[in-house]
Amino acid sequence: MDGRSPAKTTIYRVDRDNPESEFLAEASSIIRAGGLVVFPTETVYGLGADALNPYAVERIFRVKGRPPDNPLIVHIAVHDDLFILGKGIDWRAEALAKKFWPGPLTLVVPRSNKLPAITVAGLDTVAIRMPRHPVALGLIRLSGVPIAAPSANLSGRPSPTTADHVIRDLADRVDAILDAGPTDIGVESTVIDLTSEPPQVLRPGGVTVEELRAVVGEVDLHPLVTGAPIGDLVAKSPGMKYRHYAPRAKVVVVVGEAGEIKQAVQLLAAHLRRRFRVGVLGTDGHRYEADALRDLGPRSSPSGAAQRLFRYLRELDDEGVDIIVAEGWPEEGIGLAIMNRLRKAAGGLVIPADRVLRETPTISSYLRYGVMGT
Ligand code: AMP
Ligand code: MG
Repeated sequence: MDGRSPAKTTIYRVDRDNPESEFLAEASSIIRAGGLVVFPTETVYGLGADALNPYAVERIFRVKGRPPDNPLIVHIAVHDDLFILGKGIDWRAEALAKKFWPGPLTLVVPRSNKLPAITVAGLDTVAIRMPRHPVALGLIRLSGVPIAAPSANLSGRPSPTTADHVIRDLADRVDAILDAGPTDIGVESTVIDLTSEPPQVLRPGGVTVEELRAVVGEVDLHPLVTGAPIGDLVAKSPGMKYRHYAPRAKVVVVVGEAGEIKQAVQLLAAHLRRRFRVGVLGTDGHRYEADALRDLGPRSSPSGAAQRLFRYLRELDDEGVDIIVAEGWPEEGIGLAIMNRLRKAAGGLVIPADRVLRETPTISSYLRYGVMGT
């Protein structure tokens, strides 16, 4: 056994495009026996169990430390299952499934009585997705059951985009891991609620809001998506109200116009370094004086940034920084998903660059007390 294989977890190194059928067969028999299998999707790695088996699903919640009121996404491999697990499927759900499945889009629809209550956290709706990763599709097909799968991280941590991230969070707590290398998209699926009028995006992700509107017309964004204060808003998607995607370090995001962001991040990092180890999550090859620096790549390529985002948050943690100062992104296209994850990682600590420039010492001491208080 090599150093990265935990004793109770079998790790299969699978070919991404032509997954070995014997590995898929073993993994699918674990699913059918009520076990837990971690598998890659095109978005992030998922922690899968038979969605129809309440005992298997209960293990998912336990292993992740996931609050029981946060429902799971049910993964399917054939379109018919949308009609079996959901009900009252309208033209919009059908059109979206036809256009974006298999792919990074999750549809929230009224549910039938096929699924146990625990899978949907007692709701009368269900979130369904057909992933396009060959390993995910192959596993679901061979298992012959829909697979409930949240991201394969401990609750609250950044989602895993490699099998090593999974091993660090869940070693020995799952039966098998299918390792097919890093995931393509890097942020989770878009979640759209088709039970509201107009349909509402609960979580931005791999399919953009612009693409959704092109198929079904009017689509709203839930106010929490762009970080309205939680206040009296009722979180429609239960997962929205939890701090999420968070490294151990405190995160602050600087938003505004690109040139100003760069200047503000530089100043803020310099101030904070008087007291703390500071990591910067930059872009565009900007050079920062920091204790650790990760560059998400060109601002002209937000999809590349999305792919690297969670890995870099984890790596900055590994460098032992106390605080991460991140450059903000324009909230359009996949940039909306990047900013949504950064806002959640920052617990809402998103500051305009011009304010940072005007009030660097004030903001820096505010952050210091914040950091010292946690
Ligand atoms: P993950 O844990 O990464 O798979 O995230 C799944 C997301 O889908 C969470 O934010 C859930 O709250 C959301 N979700 C799952 N089922 C439903 C549902 N029936 N209605 C609304 N949101 C849902
Ligand atoms: Mg998750």
